[in-house]
Amino acid sequence: MWSFHTGLQSYGYFITWQNIFRLFLTFRPISIPFSTLLYNFSLTLHPQLINFCTMTAEFTTTILQWFTTNRRELPWRETRDPYAIWLSEIILQQTRIQQGIAYWERFMHRWPTATDLAAATEDEVLREWQGLGYYSRARNLHKAAQQIVELGHFPSTIDSIRQLKGVGDYTAAAIASIAFDLPTAVVDGNVYRVLSRYYGIDIPINTTEGKKTFTALAQELLPPTQASAFNQAMMDFGAIQCTPQSPLCDACPLIETCDAYHTKRIHQLPVKLHKLRIRERHFSYYFIRCNEHNTTLTAIRRRPSGDIWAIE
Ligand code: SF4
Repeated sequence: MWSFHTGLQSYGYFITWQNIFRLFLTFRPISIPFSTLLYNFSLTLHPQLINFCTMTAEFTTTILQWFTTNRRELPWRETRDPYAIWLSEIILQQTRIQQGIAYWERFMHRWPTATDLAAATEDEVLREWQGLGYYSRARNLHKAAQQIVELGHFPSTIDSIRQLKGVGDYTAAAIASIAFDLPTAVVDGNVYRVLSRYYGIDIPINTTEGKKTFTALAQELLPPTQASAFNQAMMDFGAIQCTPQSPLCDACPLIETCDAYHTKRIHQLPVKLHKLRIRERHFSYYFIRCNEHNTTLTAIRRRPSGDIWAIE
C-alpha cells in the first residue's frame, strides 16, 4: 500500500543513508552496484525509505516509457551536433518552442557551424535575432561562438560547456546530456514542478535548500546510461502532462503514486517565495521629432547592452 504525505520525509531518509553508505564505500573500494547495496540494506531499516526507493524506480521507468510515445518532434532532436543543440537551448531560454523553431532553422541555415557564426558581425546576429527579445542572448551567442572557435572544438565536459558565455547550469546540463550523454540532470521550472508534485516536496524552489534538494533528487532519478532521454522526458512531461495550470492528471501514468494528486495540493506545488525587490530608479529622456518634407521623423538609437533600461 502506498503511504502519501511521506515523499519528502522518505527522501530525507534516503539522503541520510546514502551519505552513510558513500562514507562506507570510500573505506571499502568494492564493486557492488551502489543502488542495489543501498536498496537491500534499506529493506531492513525503514519502510519510508523502501517507499522512496520504489517511487524512485517507478518514477524513472514511467517517465522514460511515457517519453517513447509522447516525445515532441523537434528539429534539433534529429541531430547530436552540439552546436545545433546549444543554439536551440539558447533560443529557448526565454522563447516558446513554436516561435523558437523558425529562428533555429534560420540560424542553422545561415550559420551552420560555430565557425560561420563567429565570423558574422554582431550586427548581423542581432538583426537575425530581431523579434526574439532579450538581445543579450544574441550577443552572448556570438561571443560564445568565438570562444568555441578559439578552443578549436565544441567543449565536451560540463565545466567547459559552463564556461561558454550565456550558458548557465541548466543549459550546460542540457547540452552535456543531450549532445554528449553525460549523466547530469537538468533542473528547470518543469523539473521543479513535476518533482515537487510527485514527491509532495514543499521546500521553496527559489531557496538554496530548495535548489539543493531538487538538484540532488533529479540527479538521483537520472539513469546514468539514459541521461539524454531522461532529461528530455522531464522537459516534455512538464510541458505537456504536468503543466502549471491544468495538469492532465486523469491521463497521467503517475497518478497512482503522485503525492500532490492524492493530497489535493497540485496547485500549491511547487512553492516559491515571493521576494519582490523594489528598486527606485529615475531616468530622463529626450524625445526628438522633426518634420521634414511633410514627413514626421523620430530619432531612435539602439540601447546598449547590460540592462533593459540601459542608457548612455
Ligand atoms: S498526477 Fe497530475 S500532478 Fe501528479 S505528476 Fe501526474 S499530472 Fe502531475
